[in-house]
Amino acid sequence: MLRVTGRPSSSFATVIGEITVQRLPFYERHDKILFTDAVDRGCMGYLAVLSTTPPKDSLFLPHMIGGICAEDTACIRHGSIASVSGTGEVLILWESGSQQNSLLLTEACNCRCVMCPQPPNKHDPALFATATRVLDLLKGKPLENICITGGEPTLFADNFINILRRCHAEHPGAQVSILTNAKKCSDGEFIKKLSTLPRGNDTFCVSLHSDIPEIHDEIVGAKGSYDETQAGIYSLAQYRFPIEIRHVVMKQNYSRLKEFSEYLYRYFPFCAHYAFMSMEIHGVADVNATSVYIDPADYQQNLRSAILALSKRGLHVSVYNTPLCLCHKDIRAFSRQSISSWKNTFLEQCDGCEEKESCCGFFSTSALQSNHISPIMSQC
Ligand code: SF4
Ligand code: SF4
Repeated sequence: MLRVTGRPSSSFATVIGEITVQRLPFYERHDKILFTDAVDRGCMGYLAVLSTTPPKDSLFLPHMIGGICAEDTACIRHGSIASVSGTGEVLILWESGSQQNSLLLTEACNCRCVMCPQPPNKHDPALFATATRVLDLLKGKPLENICITGGEPTLFADNFINILRRCHAEHPGAQVSILTNAKKCSDGEFIKKLSTLPRGNDTFCVSLHSDIPEIHDEIVGAKGSYDETQAGIYSLAQYRFPIEIRHVVMKQNYSRLKEFSEYLYRYFPFCAHYAFMSMEIHGVADVNATSVYIDPADYQQNLRSAILALSKRGLHVSVYNTPLCLCHKDIRAFSRQSISSWKNTFLEQCDGCEEKESCCGFFSTSALQSNHISPIMSQC
């Protein structure tokens, strides 16, 4: 999530609104955050003001974050939704023009994955309130994609179902991706309730990390998870929810990529999509880097075999988060630009690469990068 800091005009409670760079009629200002360097009485009525000028505390002015660095202002875009707090922090909750925005419902999770980039936390109901407020502000705007995420977003079933219902009703044209471990979907009551929702364009993106129960359970840090996730996938399929299987490649499972692809074909051939992902070395993954990280260059052949095996059988398969120069030539066509724009970066050596435009690049948040990055040239 993009974060900008400045100096608050006073200590005030967090507000959430839509950023505008335009002066609006007074009656349209109540849920807008004005970004301006002309801080005057014309700022009255806005929810908050953001500025590079020093903060001013006046009876006529709304809450203000001033003294924002000029270099940071690039991420304060007209139409984005932000939370502004009295600590001087501005969080961009929904980035205008981005296709990779998400609604974070909780940081709590029923797994403890050894490569989790975002360590699970105790559930904070404020996150659900924030997601609800973001949806309020998005009402009436045309959206192509909405991602619902956590932690485990289905953990608090009613919250999740309410958010999904609103996504369907208020954004019927949007593709809704739900990032989940699907354990909750093995609960008959939950899946029945979910199935009564009017249908939207949903995809349940389910993480599954091995064809061997013990390996999967060890990776996700919770015994019995393999059985629950497998049952969850079948429940979703029974009610005809589109499913994407997401497989994070790491030291624990890279040697079985071919076997894993065979397992997908035999047990889950009904899924809409299969994604093989390189790791983001952040959070728990960073702490456990020595035991989980493997350079994508070291499993090129294994990944090639798995991808081609699924593709030859007519299944839709992709490679996520893996720079093109680390993919075997035969599977570069399956690579997608999968890294969210706010944390997407390239290295210096990428400047001379002919494939930079179609490459996913790197996570700026990753503590480790491959040692095998080398520009792709026509003669390669
Ligand atoms: S990676 Fe996902 S399923 Fe695993 S602990 Fe983190 S949030 Fe939970
Ligand atoms: S050199 Fe950089 S841009 Fe080119 S394929 Fe590798 S990572 Fe991508």
